[in-house]
Amino acid sequence: MKLIFLGTNGWYCTKTGNTVCAAIVAKDRLIVLDAGDGFEKVPELAEKEKKKKIDVFLSHLHLDHAGGLHALPKFEKTHRVRIFAAWEYMKDLEYLLDHPFTANLKQLKACVELLPLKCGLNRLPYALHALPLVHADPCLGFRFELEGKVIAYCTDTGPCGNIPELGKEADALITECSLPPRTKPLRHWPHLSPEIAARLAREARAKLLILDHFDANNYREMGERKIAERVARGIFAKTIAAKDGLVLSV
Ligand SMILES: [Zn+2]
Ligand SMILES: [Zn+2]
Repeated sequence: MKLIFLGTNGWYCTKTGNTVCAAIVAKDRLIVLDAGDGFEKVPELAEKEKKKKIDVFLSHLHLDHAGGLHALPKFEKTHRVRIFAAWEYMKDLEYLLDHPFTANLKQLKACVELLPLKCGLNRLPYALHALPLVHADPCLGFRFELEGKVIAYCTDTGPCGNIPELGKEADALITECSLPPRTKPLRHWPHLSPEIAARLAREARAKLLILDHFDANNYREMGERKIAERVARGIFAKTIAAKDGLVLSV
């Protein structure tokens, strides 16, 4: 199974990358994690990988995670796109994906549905667990179990017990890395440093940690991501710092 990183910045796009979006290339579909500006590359990826079904999971609606949805008109008529988000965000999402912000879903070439997340009740052909994380607005972390692999995705969060819970023995645990090394999360703006992410991956006994969502203000050069990777590897050896275009086999 392939994991492809299409956007790896937090907050805003810079020369280091687009805002967050990643895709799990499964046998019969793409599972897309968040829809920052990297989401614009998903329609081409779906064509290249010959996937018609695209399931998009939004952790929350901050614009670095949802702003890329303005690229929905790029999907072809043959694509079937389902966008899942926490039920409390459905009204906001319907409001955002309509005039005067963008085209109404009914005007799009592809069939696009918005669906509230109800763990175990969405009749998905893979196991999904979602748990709340610690953020300025409600935010969900995800654990996907499919084709014998476990992928966990925990972004926009301060340290919390649900990260190792979702990432327990995961083949790949993707966490945010908004803070630079040697910084502590602020109470009103909880995020992770590479050291905290590494400790959580160790606690989860994950097989691989991927650092993602590098805050554009804190990580201005790619070299700073490499330093974060090195620092994290001192605690959890199997760590990779993501960058746009990274493709991993899990
Ligand atoms: Zn974010
Ligand atoms: Zn956020």
